[in-house]
Amino acid sequence: MSTTPVIGVLAVQGDVVEHVRALDAVGASPRTVRRPSELEGLDGLVIPGGESTVMDKLVRAFDLRTPLRAAIRDGLPVYGTCAGMIMLADRILDGAAGQQTLGGIDITVRRNAFGRQIDSFETDLVLDVLGPEPLRAVFIRAPWVEESGPGVSVLASVVREGREHPVVVRQGNLLATSFHPEVTGDRRVHAHFVRDIVGGSR
Ligand code: GLN
Repeated sequence: MSTTPVIGVLAVQGDVVEHVRALDAVGASPRTVRRPSELEGLDGLVIPGGESTVMDKLVRAFDLRTPLRAAIRDGLPVYGTCAGMIMLADRILDGAAGQQTLGGIDITVRRNAFGRQIDSFETDLVLDVLGPEPLRAVFIRAPWVEESGPGVSVLASVVREGREHPVVVRQGNLLATSFHPEVTGDRRVHAHFVRDIVGGSR
């Protein structure tokens, strides 16, 4: 890569600061995005975790929905964590009434899929793209992927009641994780996004 990639962090709601720190730590140049003009000149974008129902409302209120959808359609690399995964999903189950996603990844996500009693937990996941060392994955009222289309690669899953539920998916330049790598000190997912997906697209 010739210059430092500029990566936006959608900053209408959610854990923006943690992603800014993680992106900084992997050598990217993070920039918060609250208005359409701030999407210009980005090499990539992160949609943080938070609350997808609120994020959806604010994205629409800030006139970001149309430009974000256009940027995704035009191939901007985007990484969504948790609520960000929901925003990137083409279809949603257990959403709030009228809840919309931005779409882009041909998946159906189930919101709050892991249930209320165990709605937060941690586990170790091995992702081939990150090498053999397991990644500590922190799930906070997380979604899972219920169905995915043929263009989607499942990079990791969690087993519940004998069934595998994808929690890391990629389609083209779009990456999504049900969990929050920004809250652990492990920067490998951000590094993968910046070097391999953003870097590979430039
Ligand atoms: N349950 C939240 C939602 O529906 C996501 C939680 C999170 O991002 N940690 O948006």
